[in-house]
Amino acid sequence: MARYTGPVCRLCRRENEKLFLKGSRCFSAKCAFERRGFAPGQHGKSGARGGAERVSDYSRQLRAKQKARRVYGVLERQFRRNFAVARKSPAQTGFTLLALLEMRLDNVIYRMGLAENRAQARQLVNHGHFLVNGRRADIPSMVLKQGDVITLHESARQTTFFKELADVAEKRVCASWLDRDLKSISGRVLRSPERAEIDGNLNEQLIVEYYSR
Ligand code: SF4
Repeated sequence: MARYTGPVCRLCRRENEKLFLKGSRCFSAKCAFERRGFAPGQHGKSGARGGAERVSDYSRQLRAKQKARRVYGVLERQFRRNFAVARKSPAQTGFTLLALLEMRLDNVIYRMGLAENRAQARQLVNHGHFLVNGRRADIPSMVLKQGDVITLHESARQTTFFKELADVAEKRVCASWLDRDLKSISGRVLRSPERAEIDGNLNEQLIVEYYSR
């Protein structure tokens, strides 16, 4: 599955806010947004994008959509596909879209605190380290549902990364809609998240407007 492979911090600078895409580095003085909090590119600092110019509706909608894509590490085609699924749902489209993104397997691994960031979670999934309901699951975009159980593949238990993970993950918060057991490195989806439990300062209304033009 395709993914963005360019410089990650550039995305925060483009969205003009910290998206916390890297993990511990985001909370340190090394954060690129702290050091260069202006848009990337030749005209980032002094050009129109860096200034306080009037922003069109389209621009706000586009930025809201791009930000959500970047937070979840999803490319346009897949994001659009998620939106099409959300639109068909009888529930509110914007919220359903965010809930779908939250229930992705890579995001669930990240929300359980088993990875430092979503990119790492995605890699762990890609490498086939996790089972969902006893079956190997190596598709990061797989959408989980209430009651799904995530366990670690036996072969992964022998690796240094997973041997040390319980201690590292202890300091990370597990989302309230998930349950985790760090001793066995496993978890369960208790329910789908509520809107207040989805952070990241996302504006789903603007995303819906963007795709409804
Ligand atoms: Fe964004 Fe984190 Fe890079 Fe800072 S360190 S710019 S928050 S990805």
